[in-house]
Amino acid sequence: MSDTSFHPAGFGSTAVHSGHEPNSAYAHLVPIYASSTYVYESAEQGMRRFSGEEDGYIYSRWGNPTFTEAEEKIAALEAFGLTGPDGGPLRVKGLLHASGMAALSTLLLSVLKKGDKILSHYSLYGGSQELMEGLLPGLGVDAVITDLRDLDKAEAVFKSDPSIRLLYLETPANPTMQCVDIAALTALARRYNCPVACDNTFATPYLQQPFRYGVDFIMHSTTKFLNGHGTAIGGILLGRDVERMKGPVFKTLKLLGGNANPFDAFLLINGLKTLELRMERHCDNAEAVAAYLERHPAIARVNYTGLASHKEHAIAARQMRRHGGMLSFELKGGLQAGVSFINRLKMCTRTVSLGTCDTLLCHPASMTHFSIPKEKREQYGITDGLIRMSVGIENAPDILADLEQAL
Ligand SMILES: *Cc1c(COP(=O)(O)O)cnc(C)c1O
Repeated sequence: MSDTSFHPAGFGSTAVHSGHEPNSAYAHLVPIYASSTYVYESAEQGMRRFSGEEDGYIYSRWGNPTFTEAEEKIAALEAFGLTGPDGGPLRVKGLLHASGMAALSTLLLSVLKKGDKILSHYSLYGGSQELMEGLLPGLGVDAVITDLRDLDKAEAVFKSDPSIRLLYLETPANPTMQCVDIAALTALARRYNCPVACDNTFATPYLQQPFRYGVDFIMHSTTKFLNGHGTAIGGILLGRDVERMKGPVFKTLKLLGGNANPFDAFLLINGLKTLELRMERHCDNAEAVAAYLERHPAIARVNYTGLASHKEHAIAARQMRRHGGMLSFELKGGLQAGVSFINRLKMCTRTVSLGTCDTLLCHPASMTHFSIPKEKREQYGITDGLIRMSVGIENAPDILADLEQAL
């Protein structure tokens, strides 16, 4: 905000204005600061900056004014309307990264050390799961994967294993839209003194604010709904312990080097301004699509948290404002039906990724999860006829007409 005495009351106004600093050249928008390094007026000033005695940019791996606006905007949205421990507005700190995976790497390597374990759910973003199960064990950090929808199972793990040092949630989760109870799991982890992180990519802070339930860290792939236009890869890690974020977590980012770049940060800032409008439309359209698919004779099952038939409908309704733009559905005809359906689409786009203005569909069994053996895939709910859909912001009748002709 240019005049800090004015605090916008609405989420949309916060998305437009927060984090913006007036510019010395009177530029309306934050410039793309394409500069790797920053100059000092004197050696003494350089010394003060390095010692932390004076605020200021040093080197763009450590921070950049274009990153700062994106970080402050997302932090303001994740903390929107929430109260901190001192009774004032909640203060959180965000660190922008090159990708969601870079943000996750900084989180895991700053919180966990050799001998520690991470507890998570079996339905996770593929990259997160591979990082936890394929890469961390080599560093002496094991993953314990269980069904976190069952609180008794989660508690049993905490009871039997004191080396669990991070509880990692993703809700709703890819591609089955399974949800876990953020409030109940965070309360459980508290009893065992274990920090909690939540991947909030599918919901965005407009629909779900994990900090409300005491979660310690939030991570996003900003590549998806936050950017909203599919123009840049990016990620952010946010934390409610500002000193920890500025200390050990920032140090990990600086040393691993997963920093963002100013052009992508600029694209993200522009996308963020329309987050509320876009999410409302994504939700409207997804509701229409889910209702249509649920009645269609060629469809065996629709996974959308907004449908009463979804197993975790009640949990989602409690912790989300609306149900978002992501859904998946099962075609009765299996693999061949999935392939033919995807090939017949005319307006909707055949691709992976999600959260863009256009509607995107993918067929996990022949695309993202092709290399995973069928039995293992099915354990995770990825059956041969499953289609994942990121419902865009086109006009609903056009989306429905394309689905209709393809089905
Ligand atoms: C895409 C995605 C990621 C990984 O983010 P990148 O920006 O691709 O590195 C992590 N979690 C979820 C839920 C995602 O959709």
